[in-house]
Amino acid sequence: MAIEIKNLTHIYNKDTVMEKVAVRDVTVTIRDGEKVGIIGHTGSGKSTLVQHLNGLLKPHAGQVIVNGIDTMSKDIKELRKMVGMVFQYPEHQLFEETVYKDIAFGLKKQFRLPEDEADLRIREAAAEMGLSKELMDKSPFELSGGQKRRVAIAGVLVTGPSILVLDEPTAGLDPKGRDELFRSLSEINRTKKTTVIIVSHSMEEMAGFADRILVMNKGSLAMDTTPDKAFENVELLESMGLSAPQVTYMARGLARIIKGFPSDIHTVDRMVEEIMKVVKRP
Ligand code: ADP
Repeated sequence: MAIEIKNLTHIYNKDTVMEKVAVRDVTVTIRDGEKVGIIGHTGSGKSTLVQHLNGLLKPHAGQVIVNGIDTMSKDIKELRKMVGMVFQYPEHQLFEETVYKDIAFGLKKQFRLPEDEADLRIREAAAEMGLSKELMDKSPFELSGGQKRRVAIAGVLVTGPSILVLDEPTAGLDPKGRDELFRSLSEINRTKKTTVIIVSHSMEEMAGFADRILVMNKGSLAMDTTPDKAFENVELLESMGLSAPQVTYMARGLARIIKGFPSDIHTVDRMVEEIMKVVKRP
């Protein structure tokens, strides 16, 4: 079991007039190797929830156990090695002269590795994030927005976390950059069995990526289900300030006018498939 969250409550500015219960009594278990999307409207508690996973925030009530380590324990260093955290706009943290040095930074800080082993790891992490060899000696500031983001993520991956948590990793990326990033993350999940947890406010994005969706609403866990099941109840999602993917609305419309057309489509690929079936009908 990778992560066990039991009755977690987190309160900002506790016992002041500014008191805010950001996460309320959340219980959830995430297994090794899962691809989980945490979805919710802005302010629903997503970031607060995930910041408990590497002990950055501590529970006010309840417990968070990651690979057997209670985040309240003193093993915080061990915990940080297991959980790679990628915050919003991680490229803002890039500062080294070269891409190579930027990817190496966290590794050198956290681990004392022989030079050749470190070098191998750095090159592997770069390749996993789709960064070519030619980029390694460039300044990160010469790169595109999507490339910079991948450098920043490679700088987390290089430490070899078994759990990777990314907060809105596609914010500000164009569709191509977004697709490439999700492809890389899926590949890492598939080949290394890394548990990948993505915080997003977009159902659309998570429909194509996650195999499990946790919906946060006003600090509580409102749904824990598969993408398909989550989108079955569009009205409930809308009541939480979310919406189903655009193609789901389109499918519902088409299902009303085309006999036998499925209304439960959540990805563009499946929509294309179903439309082709209709086009090819005799
Ligand atoms: P999300 O990630 O879903 O947007 P957050 O976890 O950031 O939600 O925020 C949950 C609630 O906690 C919001 O009402 C937010 O205003 C509040 N909050 C978040 N961070 C802080 C903080 N550092 N101090 C006080 N309140 C905060």
